[in-house]
Amino acid sequence: MDRRHFLELGVGIGGTLVSGCGLKANRAQRIREADEATRTALDQIARDPVLRLVDLESPVLIDSIQLVSDGRDTFVHVRSKDGAQGLSVTNGRAYLHEILRKCVIPYFKGKDARDLEAHLFEVYRHGSNYKLQGLALWCPVAWVEMAILDMLGRINGRSMGQLLGDPVRDAVPFYVASSRRDTTPEQEVVHLQSLIDETGAKAVKYRVGGRMSRNEDSLPGRTEGLIPLSRKALGDQIAIHADANSSYDASHAIEVGRMLEAIGAEHFEEPCPFDDLEATRQVTQALTIPIAGGEQEFSEARFRDMIARRCVDITQPDLHYYGGMIRSTRVARMSAALGMPTTVHISGGFGFVYMLHFASFTPDIGPYQEYKTGVERYGKWFDPALEIRDGALTVPQGPGVGIKDIDAVLKGAKPV
Ligand SMILES: [Mg+2]
Repeated sequence: MDRRHFLELGVGIGGTLVSGCGLKANRAQRIREADEATRTALDQIARDPVLRLVDLESPVLIDSIQLVSDGRDTFVHVRSKDGAQGLSVTNGRAYLHEILRKCVIPYFKGKDARDLEAHLFEVYRHGSNYKLQGLALWCPVAWVEMAILDMLGRINGRSMGQLLGDPVRDAVPFYVASSRRDTTPEQEVVHLQSLIDETGAKAVKYRVGGRMSRNEDSLPGRTEGLIPLSRKALGDQIAIHADANSSYDASHAIEVGRMLEAIGAEHFEEPCPFDDLEATRQVTQALTIPIAGGEQEFSEARFRDMIARRCVDITQPDLHYYGGMIRSTRVARMSAALGMPTTVHISGGFGFVYMLHFASFTPDIGPYQEYKTGVERYGKWFDPALEIRDGALTVPQGPGVGIKDIDAVLKGAKPV
């Protein structure tokens, strides 16, 4: 029965019960129409061009894309037929190299790099690549996308961030993230304090729950002990974030969220299984603490729905798992349209550099970005070297990703 017939039937029968139904039906229709308008508006925003190239009148044809490694880092090295080059640093995951070689590189060879934005959809269509959609496809696409952006930035004399938006900041406050779950609350606060002392961070993130654990904690009572103890031990000046990594059903997540609200925590990440958007939405609706999520998401349509339905308050595409800087920028734009910040998730030791570029042009990134380690190892590849100043990382200057000497970085690297 279509909607019109349903309403006519309701009107025809008459009586109190039916007028109640009619009210409900009208309300449901209004909500559906509003949802539809929101989705259409977000789709339009996601279609707006992101990449901004200036004065690039001749094609930049991709001649080769090579995977090379120096034993510590693995790189994707792209060259154009005119001899331009660009480099990206992968986020590990050597098991995806075959997908890069067989499914992604063949698509890009010979293409005009200036059309990168369109290629992100065409490489997904190429062959049956869309059947691999997920981290398996989008990490290799991100490696190539980031290498091409580096090359285009070098040709254009502009940084990766400047290719994608207007600069809004040159230093990025961060939270330092603990990756432990095997600690008691007492051990964890000592560990958190050591991370703060090492980095000068003004914010931390720790893990709660057991990770994809159907409400089980990693150690009995750890979460209930850690939340109040963290505030007591770290003091009122530190911003506290907690990540459940999909540990809870909605009702358990709401209980943990209330504990986080009681200590004035900054955000609560992935409270429910990441693909259970309805459970996540219930938690978001019930709590005042902002709910963050999206690091496992790989679908543009589902990100749109997550935003339209306000399943989370803060979107967190992973710059690699989600397929790179351009696709993640579209998520940030859709989020911004509904007043939601985008605090990207990062993976791989070098991933924080891409986060810095993303933060350099994205207006609303929330107060703190994710950081683990890396500035000691990679900072000196840049000129000026990247560094931490007063709880914030400096944004890379110079063209492309900002690595000052590609040949020096690649010295001793061999094809994988
Ligand atoms: Mg997380």
